[in-house]
Amino acid sequence: MTSIDLGMPAGPPPVLAERRKTRQIRVGKVLVGGDAPVSVQSMTTTPTTDINATLQQIAELTATGCDIVRVAVPSQDDADALPAIAAKSQIPVIADIHFQPKYVFAAIEAGCAAVRVNPGNIRKFDDQVKEIARTAADAGVSIRIGVNAGSLDPRLLEKYGKPSPEALVESALWEAGLFEEHGFHDFKISVKHHDPVVMVRAYELLSEQCDYPLHLGVTEAGPAFQGTIKSSVAFGALLSKGIGDTIRVSLSAPPAEEVKVGIKILESLNLRPRKLEIVSCPSCGRAQVDVYKLADEVTAGLEGMEVPLRVAVMGCVVNGPGEAREADLGVASGNGKGQIFVRGEVVRTVPESEIVETLIDEAMRIGEELKDAGVASGAPEVEVR
Ligand code: SF4
Repeated sequence: MTSIDLGMPAGPPPVLAERRKTRQIRVGKVLVGGDAPVSVQSMTTTPTTDINATLQQIAELTATGCDIVRVAVPSQDDADALPAIAAKSQIPVIADIHFQPKYVFAAIEAGCAAVRVNPGNIRKFDDQVKEIARTAADAGVSIRIGVNAGSLDPRLLEKYGKPSPEALVESALWEAGLFEEHGFHDFKISVKHHDPVVMVRAYELLSEQCDYPLHLGVTEAGPAFQGTIKSSVAFGALLSKGIGDTIRVSLSAPPAEEVKVGIKILESLNLRPRKLEIVSCPSCGRAQVDVYKLADEVTAGLEGMEVPLRVAVMGCVVNGPGEAREADLGVASGNGKGQIFVRGEVVRTVPESEIVETLIDEAMRIGEELKDAGVASGAPEVEVR
């Protein structure tokens, strides 16, 4: 058997900018801000009152790599479901509260790790901040001040005429100030907008004016294709400057898809160790194999790979051997055959029909060796209480 150079990293991979220094807060067992890795969040789409369905979706999100999950609490029945959900979820649960401050207290009592409040929507909230701050602090629960362009405080909408970056930031800092008056600082802030340009500007302004951890989100980003692009562009613009401590990709698609996109964004910026990375060529008139099919089949066969592995799938011998050599594992195809590379060495040549199977076998073998060598996956920093 070929001996494998495990390619253990000499140091952390390069990033585009130092992370902005923020306060660190706790969302249950996940730390957010400070030097904690950027975490990935999503939100359940099941009725929160349907405890089993919600827990099932949370389990699926957990398996996909979600770090923190949020559930909607629009009614008393939803609030009543929170204790069971918070107790059984494997990842911290955030209760999303609009309109009714009493659900904030119910969520804290229920054992939720954090509560999201929307300053634009929560009625009779300002006079209850003192009590909320005290109850949250006693329970070790953090809060997200979640400003959303679609539900901006009417006072600010009137002042600015539209949910501009300045209006979003003023709303967030106003609410933050109310908590600060009572000595409460365990919160993170979001200022979401559907337009990535407005959203990026809002977070930039906010990051200049406070050191609270920031939850990034492009709200109502749209169906999977558009939403993935909008979120990637906006998060990339901010994260590449060190802005952002936790992210939620909003898609009109199953929430597990949001998590996959979020993880890939972080991996792309080296903010999370890369796991499976397929380096495949776009194909062109020189291709001697169906690259799309090959890349899809290899991707599907290696889904869920927990160790960092770069696999090159190349359509011909022009760039193929070079890329395949740079990757952990690769194939350069031509003349009905595939040259299989492992860490730069050609280990064998197989007929085209055996390329996928051979790559998957080799990947599994390398994966086992990496796991035995203790190469970590990209899990966030957690503190288990
Ligand atoms: S590797 Fe070959 S087939 Fe793929 S894009 Fe490059 S030249 Fe075209």
